[in-house]
Amino acid sequence: MSDTITVELLSRWIHEFSGLVSAHHDQLNSLDAAIGDADHGTNLDRGFTVVAAGLATAPQQPGDLLSHVGRTVVSKVGGAAGPLFGSFFLCLGDAIGNDPDLDSRRFALGLRAGLAGVVARGRAEAGDKTLYDVLAPGVDAIDAAAAAQYDLPDVFRAGLLAAEAGRESTICMLARKGRASYLGERSVGHQDPGATSACLLFTAATSAAT
Ligand SMILES: [Mg+2]
Repeated sequence: MSDTITVELLSRWIHEFSGLVSAHHDQLNSLDAAIGDADHGTNLDRGFTVVAAGLATAPQQPGDLLSHVGRTVVSKVGGAAGPLFGSFFLCLGDAIGNDPDLDSRRFALGLRAGLAGVVARGRAEAGDKTLYDVLAPGVDAIDAAAAAQYDLPDVFRAGLLAAEAGRESTICMLARKGRASYLGERSVGHQDPGATSACLLFTAATSAAT
């Protein structure tokens, strides 16, 4: 029973993420200043403030809620983050559907579909120094923990640990996608802003489920 991922939990997840993005607004902008155009925090914060404000009036079914979030993100989040985070939520919402008995294994499959949506949009691969380097290991860890029948908070905690390791791994990577790739070798030594914000998805899921 505690394994069920309710629409309330999903709504809490998005709300928590929006709050974390606001709290990390300046950090995300400074990380983007080092290898991009210094607006990642501003773009995400502006869009997710709109998303969070609309949660109460959003469709109250799992798949419909997250698809709604995805559409709002695409239209309200600027920069490369809008299409990438938007695709993630659109594909996730599509994949989980509106089954009220959504469990962690099914949710893990949904996250994988969300990751595939990000790849289809940005064509990033492992080691390109993007949000992929956080999402892919995070989703793998959630998938494995769900398959091992961990309790829900532990499923998300496993995802968070892997996501944090992925985030740290971007520091020494050479950027091969997006604006940061124009810097070549000079991108090495900087933590990727998109990987940093993507990691907050796992922080938010962990607190929403705990
Ligand atoms: Mg930017």
